[in-house]
Amino acid sequence: RPASPDRAAIEAAAARAEKPGVAAGPRRTDRVRRDVAGDSDAKAKAKAEDSRRTGRLSLNQALDGEGGRQRSMAAMKRKQDRARQKAMGNVRPEKQVRDVQLPETIVVSELANRMAERAADVVKSLMKMGMMVSMNQAIDADTAELVIEEFGHKAVRVSDADVEQVIDTVQDKAEDLLPRPPIVTIMGHVDHGKTSLLDAIRKANVVSGEAGGITQHIGAYQVKTDSGAVLTFLDTPGHAAFTSMRARGAQVTDIVVLVVAADDAVMPQTIEAINHAKAAKVPMIVAINKIDKPSADPDRVRTSLLHQEVVVEKMSGDVQDVEVSAKTGQGLDELLEAIALQAEILELQANPNRPAQGAVIEAKLDVGRGPVATVLVQNGTLKRGDIFVVGEQWGKVRALINDKGERVDEAGPSVPVEVLGLDGTPAAGDVLNVVETEAQAREIADYRIQQTKDKRAAAGAATTLEQLMAKAKADESVSELPVVVKADVQGSAEAIVQALEKIGNEEVRVRVLHYGVGAITESDVGLAEASKAPVIGFNVRANAPARNSANQKGVEIRYYSIIYDLVDDIKAAASGLLSNEVRENFIGYAEIREVFRVTGVGNVAGCLVTEGVARRSAGVRLLRDNVVIHEGTLKTLKRFKDEVKEVISGQECGMAFENYDDIRKGDIIEIFEREEVERSL
Ligand code: GDP
Repeated sequence: RPASPDRAAIEAAAARAEKPGVAAGPRRTDRVRRDVAGDSDAKAKAKAEDSRRTGRLSLNQALDGEGGRQRSMAAMKRKQDRARQKAMGNVRPEKQVRDVQLPETIVVSELANRMAERAADVVKSLMKMGMMVSMNQAIDADTAELVIEEFGHKAVRVSDADVEQVIDTVQDKAEDLLPRPPIVTIMGHVDHGKTSLLDAIRKANVVSGEAGGITQHIGAYQVKTDSGAVLTFLDTPGHAAFTSMRARGAQVTDIVVLVVAADDAVMPQTIEAINHAKAAKVPMIVAINKIDKPSADPDRVRTSLLHQEVVVEKMSGDVQDVEVSAKTGQGLDELLEAIALQAEILELQANPNRPAQGAVIEAKLDVGRGPVATVLVQNGTLKRGDIFVVGEQWGKVRALINDKGERVDEAGPSVPVEVLGLDGTPAAGDVLNVVETEAQAREIADYRIQQTKDKRAAAGAATTLEQLMAKAKADESVSELPVVVKADVQGSAEAIVQALEKIGNEEVRVRVLHYGVGAITESDVGLAEASKAPVIGFNVRANAPARNSANQKGVEIRYYSIIYDLVDDIKAAASGLLSNEVRENFIGYAEIREVFRVTGVGNVAGCLVTEGVARRSAGVRLLRDNVVIHEGTLKTLKRFKDEVKEVISGQECGMAFENYDDIRKGDIIEIFEREEVERSL
């Protein structure tokens, strides 16, 4: 007598396998039935188990059952197969080997489903491996693969989850491909003339609109050369965006134009740019700028480029070089033609007749329009009404706005457009894919959110004790200055974080706890409080609850509109060199209730002072959806008909800005005074 019923079952099954046709009773097709012949005890037990099973509705029963749902085609086919095999005398049913799609993590019940096994059996087999998991828990792919093998199926690893498979990844046929314009990024050292050059090319002037000299908003523009070639230029705020986009897998640049000033030479950022271009394997064209200057010496630039292993054509190399002046416009046409020529060599192609795929160049939370993303279409055509996923967000294209600010119905390959209709702000570098239904889009977005959460959790868990110890040791001697950063656009946020992370030495470093786009919220303040960190707002403001909570908890919120100032302050704070500074104190807030047009004065805001006081002599800022729209001074402050010096909280008043007119109902006016105080970050 065998030691246990289990063993008996295995032996009996083995015996039966040798003598087909002996075993009786109902059969299940999808697994080897553990029938216990030859041992009456075990048989009775198995019977009892069977009858117990009938009480429960498993997926198999539900699908196979006569009463409930219709049989699937596959089930009918299986039944026919079975009948045929029986007729041929081969009674023993073949176990069906399935290809099981296996994503990076899978929930146990889903795994059972895909193998068409009972979830309980899967849990059991996991327990045998020493893993105590329930049906609703997720397991990793490696474990799942072992289980799949154990059940005799085949695991097919899919790199991303099945939900992502709805994204059209079909390779385009050669005959569908059409030429597309090249996408050009201009890089180079600061002040060598990137913005001026781009500007000269666009024949518009954006340099004057910059705060603090850094290009803070990424755009992209299309221009047409004299010979008719269309070129797309990316206007990125320096190299960080280029790399961070590449890090996220969005290689959007086809050609890099390296700007070097002729009166200067190869500088650190020039080298950085060369390295970026080389790493991305993108061809380079050297634009030797400021050739109009008397001190210009283009040959010196060419020679110094040699040290970086960039051999220009004039030095018998293969990198095109063009002498230009952004100021006089000299050589610009040649530069454009050089780019067009390079593009021709690259033979850039795309298929405009397929669902669009693109990359986010910049995304922001826009006043009044909600989340807006500038997307560069890379393949296919993006149309109004298209449903898409982009990173962890999804949406339906409500409107498309091209680089000239015009509404368009569609955008083809290499065309940059602003996309409206997102449910949240994506990140620069996120890939946009058009899908068929809203449900799919939402599912993919949800899945990706979960995925990043899982990854983060897994990464946290993956740190070994040794690593933790090492880190703790290193941390002992390093004091950290934690900060929370919020900005108006993703590009700025990233630029700030990168700049901040560079600050520091052996004794002190800056740690960015969190950064994001949009108004400062209570949760930011909460986070800052927990780590005793200040919150930094770049062109954004705290909303009212966040402000209150910051006041209560004593969390400092600092506002900036120039990156350099911000970095300098943090640097000073980090190195303990806090000198006295002119600091802003908020003395009040007023809400615009109505806007009146007064001849001779312009727009006058009818306001209610909601907090503190409004003072005629103070500085004012206009906030719309917590984003700074304008900063200046007041032209008038009126209570009824009289000009007054001060209006206190709860009272109504009329205000007009000096040299500024675009005020709207619902805007908030922030009133501040400057005072010299000791810095205390
Ligand atoms: P970026 O920091 O690389 O974007 O450089 P900018 O475009 O802001 O230019 C820096 C400075 O160089 C500005 O003061 C420009 O007026 C000046 N500049 C740019 N291009 C030329 C040029 O071709 N000739 C001369 N003389 N000055 C230039």
